[in-house]
Amino acid sequence: MIYTILVIEDEPDINALLAKILRRSDYKVIQAFSGTEAQRVLAGERPDLILLDLMLPGMPGEKVLSDLRGDYRMDIPVIVISARDSLDDKVSLLKNGADDYITKPFEPEEVLARIEASLRRVGKSRVSEKELVCKNLKLCPGSRKVTLHEKELTLTAHEFDILFLLMQNPEKVYSRELLYEQVWHGGYYGENNTVNVHVSNIRKKLKEIDPSEEYIQTVYGIGFKLKETL
Ligand code: CA
Repeated sequence: MIYTILVIEDEPDINALLAKILRRSDYKVIQAFSGTEAQRVLAGERPDLILLDLMLPGMPGEKVLSDLRGDYRMDIPVIVISARDSLDDKVSLLKNGADDYITKPFEPEEVLARIEASLRRVGKSRVSEKELVCKNLKLCPGSRKVTLHEKELTLTAHEFDILFLLMQNPEKVYSRELLYEQVWHGGYYGENNTVNVHVSNIRKKLKEIDPSEEYIQTVYGIGFKLKETL
């Protein structure tokens, strides 16, 4: 399934960068460089998600958002990307119908993660239903079933989501912040210990079945990754 993303951003460099990041991840991209141009696009197309800058010439992003939610009555997920990072701005935008908020400068990875999360919330997940395997550990995304040595593991929803992320990208090191954002869908991580607690619970459950094998590796100072090498 190819999803279409409308990028509304007046800075040509940033617009081009976003388009590149998205196309590389197999999204179809429509670029708009002003609010009025975006409205012209929206009159004829229905993208699956919108990335919206706030400071736009002529019509500010807030107006694009309020028209979208008001007059047009479109429930397309909107992620605001802005250099403005005050809590008040974020709260008022979220209240006015934005689904998420990314602060500039952004990391490509974060943009993609937030898009995935927003699409997932409206039932447009690109995640494959294919079974994921790591050594004797098997995870089935469709049924949300996890087995180790053919024995079923009882994981909580968050534990499952963490393991799922790690198994989807076995090479990738996930920071605690990123895991928190993706599993708990945003919010401030701060000094929170939540991710550590969940990872240690997963490890405990895995150890109960297979005490001799490590499945999740701690990467010191960064976070966690799947331990595949043996
Ligand atoms: Ca701008």
